[in-house]
Amino acid sequence: MEKHQDPCQESGAQGQSDSERAFAINLMRHLVVPTFVLDTACKVIVWNIACEKLTGVLASEVLGTSDHWRGFYDAPRPCLADLVVQGRVTEVGTLYAQHEDTGEVHYGLYAENWCVMPRLGNRLYLALDSGPIYDNEGRLIAAVETLRDMTIQKEAQAALEQLAHRDGLTGIANRRSFDRTLDTEWRRALRKSKSLTLLMLDVDHFKGYNDTYGHQAGDDCLRRVAAAMAHIPVRVSDQVARYGGEEFAVILPDVNLQGAGVVAERIRVAVEQLALVNRASTTGRVTVSIGVASMTAKPDQTPAQLIAWADAALFEAKRQGRNRVVVRPLDAPVPTLPPLQR
Ligand code: GH3
Ligand code: MG
Ligand code: MG
Repeated sequence: MEKHQDPCQESGAQGQSDSERAFAINLMRHLVVPTFVLDTACKVIVWNIACEKLTGVLASEVLGTSDHWRGFYDAPRPCLADLVVQGRVTEVGTLYAQHEDTGEVHYGLYAENWCVMPRLGNRLYLALDSGPIYDNEGRLIAAVETLRDMTIQKEAQAALEQLAHRDGLTGIANRRSFDRTLDTEWRRALRKSKSLTLLMLDVDHFKGYNDTYGHQAGDDCLRRVAAAMAHIPVRVSDQVARYGGEEFAVILPDVNLQGAGVVAERIRVAVEQLALVNRASTTGRVTVSIGVASMTAKPDQTPAQLIAWADAALFEAKRQGRNRVVVRPLDAPVPTLPPLQR
């Protein structure tokens, strides 16, 4: 019987590797996952159709060049596959918003970045995997990079975080976020033997406001008070939060008691200057009382103590007639006040 030769073997070993290579390139070209491949000189040898769709950059524009960055960035910079080819594993952290540290380049690299796509103008959150390709002798011959558009997931995650950490009524940080920040800042202050300062704030005669103007007007009033407060503290590390009901809190790391008193007074004045009428109040306006406390973080104390001290100062501000700031002296004894009737 006549023997039929395998068409791939027709021209010997060279023919076989050429056709295999052509097949592999064709496979990658049509892969639904956006993919590009660099050779050891960081020149593009594959830029597939899905990558053309994602970036708006055609294969004909980048094949044989090192211009692949144009697909993702405005100015020349390494892509993940460049780092794989050049073994620059340590640079992933500085070049990408998120990354996984595999430590060894032959395991490949994983990273995520926001990219404003230069050609299409859309902002995408891309997840990138890049791995080396070796020949039979173990020599590096190329690096392949695959890209996933994670924008929808990232935006959904941001929306969830917003829901989890923002107060629905006022838009400022909620109680959960306050608890977390206070805990984080407490531990930071503990590590650095620094002080932490807290303002507790309560709207005066707010029950009367609600009774007079209705609950919706009350909600609106809380929104305006929160907005006025949120404009005052200046540092990125400061946090203004809704503690609950008509009570707010401000965390001021690295601010001394005197500085915190100034911030508190600015908040008090800012609320007063909103000039919101409150017939139920003795001043005729919406005002706030503020308690300020500061303590040096020590291992045998807790942030709950700081809250109790700021609360005691707030109680004192109410007792003294409201619409005022009371700063708890640093050496004041631990309060043994009755529970607040607010
Ligand atoms: P004080 O000056 O001693 O603080 O008196 P107050 O009337 O403000 O104190 P009280 O604690 O008696 O009243 C708080 C009021 O805040 C009662 C409650 O209905 C109202 N309140 C709490 N949360 C909200 C809210 O989300 N919206 C509105 N509109 N009112 C709220
Ligand atoms: Mg009140
Ligand atoms: Mg209250």
